[in-house]
Amino acid sequence: MIEWNDGLSVGVEVLDNNHKKLLDIINQLSEAIDTNASESTLNNIFKDLEEYSLIHFNQEESYIKQCNQNALAEHKKQHDDFISKIPQLKAKFLSTSDYVAAQDATIYLIDWLLNHIITEDIPLINFFENCELAKNKNSKKESLFQRLIKKTTDTFSFTKRILLSVLIPLIGMFFFGSIILWNNYQKYEEMKSTSSITYTIGNINTLAHNIQIERGLSSGYLTSIENKFDDRLQKQKEIVNNDVVSFVNKLKTVHKEKLIAIQPFINIFEEDILTLNNLRKQINDKKISQIDAINTYSKILRNILSITPRIAFLNIDGEISSSISTLSSILHLKEALGQERAYGTMLIEKKSTTRDENISFMQLLGAQKSFLLMFEQTASQNQKSTKETIFNSVIAKKISESEEKLKNRDFENLDSETWFNSLTELIDSVKNFEDQLLIEINGLIDNRISGTIQNLFLWILFNTIILATTFFILYTLKKSSTKQISQLTDAMKDLASGGRSFRLSPIMINRDEIACMYDSYETTRLKLLKGDIFTQLYKNQKDIELKSKQRENIKLEEMAFHDILTGMLNRRKFEELSALEIKQSKRYNRNLTLLMLDIDYFKKINDTYGHAIGDEVLKHFANICKNIAREADIVARIGGEEFVIILPETNIDGAYNFSERLRKEVFNSSLTIESQTIKYSVSIGIADLKEDKNVKTILQRADEALYEAKKSGRNTTVVYK
Ligand code: GH3
Ligand code: MG
Ligand code: MG
Repeated sequence: MIEWNDGLSVGVEVLDNNHKKLLDIINQLSEAIDTNASESTLNNIFKDLEEYSLIHFNQEESYIKQCNQNALAEHKKQHDDFISKIPQLKAKFLSTSDYVAAQDATIYLIDWLLNHIITEDIPLINFFENCELAKNKNSKKESLFQRLIKKTTDTFSFTKRILLSVLIPLIGMFFFGSIILWNNYQKYEEMKSTSSITYTIGNINTLAHNIQIERGLSSGYLTSIENKFDDRLQKQKEIVNNDVVSFVNKLKTVHKEKLIAIQPFINIFEEDILTLNNLRKQINDKKISQIDAINTYSKILRNILSITPRIAFLNIDGEISSSISTLSSILHLKEALGQERAYGTMLIEKKSTTRDENISFMQLLGAQKSFLLMFEQTASQNQKSTKETIFNSVIAKKISESEEKLKNRDFENLDSETWFNSLTELIDSVKNFEDQLLIEINGLIDNRISGTIQNLFLWILFNTIILATTFFILYTLKKSSTKQISQLTDAMKDLASGGRSFRLSPIMINRDEIACMYDSYETTRLKLLKGDIFTQLYKNQKDIELKSKQRENIKLEEMAFHDILTGMLNRRKFEELSALEIKQSKRYNRNLTLLMLDIDYFKKINDTYGHAIGDEVLKHFANICKNIAREADIVARIGGEEFVIILPETNIDGAYNFSERLRKEVFNSSLTIESQTIKYSVSIGIADLKEDKNVKTILQRADEALYEAKKSGRNTTVVYK
């Protein structure tokens, strides 16, 4: 009785039920054989089997047709084979009464059915599932996440998944690194463009400084009668012109977008240059008052100096920006000092001031204070102390005193030249400070640029290291995983093909999913190994049982055909064999002789020594017969102490010789039992095979000859005549 196992399910309920039913019919057949059911019962079961197989195969084929056309032809062929085998099996069943052969046939049926389900039907499950004929056990109530997992598994192979798990974060990192890299590059570009405009500050300083000198010289030129400023003014104008040219050239190197930011100032600057040329003409012709000339110069200077704070504003770097602002306030301060120098010189030379002139002078001093306040807001501690040194110097104090006198119109102790020189000295030190600030700014810009470049390289290095590390990790991961998996695959393949010796060393250190797979493999291997051994043992046991049965059969056979006491053939077997032998001899016309033997006075032996010793004598005699007879001779005990020997292919002479040899052997031998020596003799009658003789007649004739032998005194051989 073979029971249904759910592992045999193909997922389609109808087909599973069919398979169960088929198995059930075959089981019925087996049971019918067991219970020795009638032929008509067997016939009915076979009819059921045939009919139901047809129904099932048709159904199965129609399902396959819907889902996997390719498998249909082969499947149909197998079904047809099976259907054609059923009548043959049936015939075999009904013709034999052999239980084992009948059960063998049911085993064949079960074997076919289960094999067909396992190797042909079960592999179709996926196709059945795909065309929704079978319920997919895994598809029940899948969450979105589970579906995502399934989709990933379906789309990407294992190694690709490993690749992605490393590659995606890598791409993220790389993307992030690249953004930072790009950002740094932008910063670098911005720095470069800002620095290009910042570098113009130097030109603005120089230009402003030289225009200031030109203003001073022009002022002198306008008031002097001896033309003592002519040459110097001329030279200064050229210097200013050169400064204008180099400033304009410098502007050409400035990035366009930065240039746009200061474009209004450039426009004003261009107008101012025209104004300057105009002013120079008027000064040259002395058609302008000294104060108007100074004011015009100062206006131009104001315009020029207002470019610098704008540049400070363009710098995104706080430190640079505040340094430029500091520089700008110093530039303005210097300009105010220049104006103070010119204005003061003029007033001292006049030795009088109007109210308005006094107010203007005071305003100049106020402007200086406000520039110093501006300076304080942005300057560093170092810059502040430098400023302190300049404005606490002896010359600065001297200027302060003179300023007080000028404010109080105390011209007595004021000298224009001293005033001019003192202020020039102060302005020079401010100019030095200004140069120092410019150097600081340029240094800062250079620092920032090299810093950005360094950052840029660091990020390139970072990105490269990430890239290299990831590829290394990826390669190692992929190699190690594929190695383990291919090992497992090889082992499983070996297992499937019947190998049981492929041992996977257990993974002791890293107990991961692969380690569990290895363990499962090992468990499966050992279970299968155990199964194999059990099967072998079972087979062995069956062999042993079979052999013992065979032995028993032989024993039974021996018991059926042999005499228990002497081990000679019994009468039944003798008749069977002798009939065969006589038939053969007659067919091939061969000689055959028969000896009938009877122990002499056996009753007396029994009476004298007892029945048991009589038995021993029978055994003793049988042994002598067996020893003397050839392989082909038939030796049998056919009565109490009566024996026959058939000698095939032996004529009467040969038989007589044989008989005498045997008789003498018996007569000359003796047997000793319980210290008693027993001697006995045998009488023998011989007859041979002539035409029309059968076993019965030849036996009769030998018996007659034996009777003659007994009559003639025993212990002799007589041939039938
Ligand atoms: P003869 O010389 O005329 O043959 O004399 P006999 O004593 O042998 O005479 P008979 O053939 O009549 O005697 C056969 C005796 O053998 C009778 C029976 O008691 C004895 N006998 C028969 N079968 C067995 C047997 O299996 N064991 C023993 N011990 N005796 C047997
Ligand atoms: Mg089937
Ligand atoms: Mg006898």
